[in-house]
Amino acid sequence: MLRLPAHEVLQPRTVAEAVALLAEHGEKAMLIAGGTDLLPNMKHRLFEPDYLVALAGIEELRGVRDAEGGLEIGAMTTLTEVAESPLVRERAPALAQAAGLVSGPQLRNMGTLGGNVMLDTRCQWYNQTYFWRSALGYCLKKDGSKCHVVEGGQKCVAAASNDTAPALMTLGAALQFAGPRGPQELAIDAIWRPDGIWNKKFGRDQILTAIRLPAAAAGHRGAYGKLRDRGSIDFPLLGMAARVDRDPAGAVADADLCVVALQARPTRVRKAAELLRGAEPGSPGFDEAVEAVAQAAHQQCRPLDSIPGDAEYRHLMVPVLARRTLRAAAEGATVGVL
Ligand SMILES: Cc1cc2nc3c(=O)[nH]c(=O)nc-3n(C[C@H](O)[C@H](O)[C@H](O)COP(=O)(O)OP(=O)(O)OC[C@H]3O[C@@H](n4cnc5c(N)ncnc54)[C@H](O)[C@@H]3O)c2cc1C
Ligand code: SF4
Repeated sequence: MLRLPAHEVLQPRTVAEAVALLAEHGEKAMLIAGGTDLLPNMKHRLFEPDYLVALAGIEELRGVRDAEGGLEIGAMTTLTEVAESPLVRERAPALAQAAGLVSGPQLRNMGTLGGNVMLDTRCQWYNQTYFWRSALGYCLKKDGSKCHVVEGGQKCVAAASNDTAPALMTLGAALQFAGPRGPQELAIDAIWRPDGIWNKKFGRDQILTAIRLPAAAAGHRGAYGKLRDRGSIDFPLLGMAARVDRDPAGAVADADLCVVALQARPTRVRKAAELLRGAEPGSPGFDEAVEAVAQAAHQQCRPLDSIPGDAEYRHLMVPVLARRTLRAAAEGATVGVL
């Protein structure tokens, strides 16, 4: 049986108290939201904080609210609540679909949107027990000096594997933080670093308090497609979110396609908007544009062996997932099982 390392749980009632506790205990403390990722990681001795600052008792961090036609979602809102919220389904369908495809129902009932955004990167040589990792001599990300994915590599390429991240990118989300230097708002595109050890640009002393989505365009449509081993529960082998905004005549006015489970940061497929603009879903021109984006994605996205599953197979599935996700988005549908 894997046991948790000894630790003390601190239970603030306000964000200000939580910020103060993080500042007081520095590197000895970590935040815990639903705990669905952090606790297994602690059992694997990937993190051994002396203090867990629990966000569960802070009411102000929960809920989905209208924000000037857009949405404000508290960081502690559970994935189930996000997936089932009528407001999220109507205004941000890609996010509702992505949240509904994270792991399985029990973990979605505990796991939060904030914890998903802040998820640690994943690697099949890292997300293992201490004993397993010790047999391999550990790795760069934790306790060792070698990367087992890139021979001689000096940089960790563990992959961002959070399903909601690409959906939030296509929706132009802004993240609100509280911290010792005061509140901060950052566009989600601006938070990522290409470093699997810590793939975010802000300090570990900051608390994500809310995710804000601007009002969507009138003809907004979105979808999230996920490749995984089992339909019931699994991290993405590939995850793709699409936004297709249609003008009053039905043609594509704007579009976006973002991918997760490749490298340390989620990736935007370049030229997706350029290739799709003006095409009318249902017409041969739209099919050609989708094919051009699928091929651009295949060229740009290079899955690595950090994620389980054959990397070449995952690479071949990039255009398949791109086609299905873009079509589902354009039609206001879901991608279905892959
Ligand atoms: C079997 C299994 C399958 C899974 N499958 C998937 C999957 O398919 N897709 C997927 O995306 N995830 C998956 N997960 C991971 C996890 O369940 C989800 O990502 C979940 O959303 C994490 O949220 P949480 O609230 O439980 O975060 P926690 O585990 O509590 O925290 C995760 C990390 O975020 C930090 N953190 C949490 N909240 C905040 C905040 N408000 N501000 C700053 N930092 C914060 C924590 O310190 C920790 O480092 C899986 C986990 C397991 C165990
Ligand atoms: S990519 Fe994997 S093996 Fe390489 S350093 Fe990162 S976690 Fe370790």
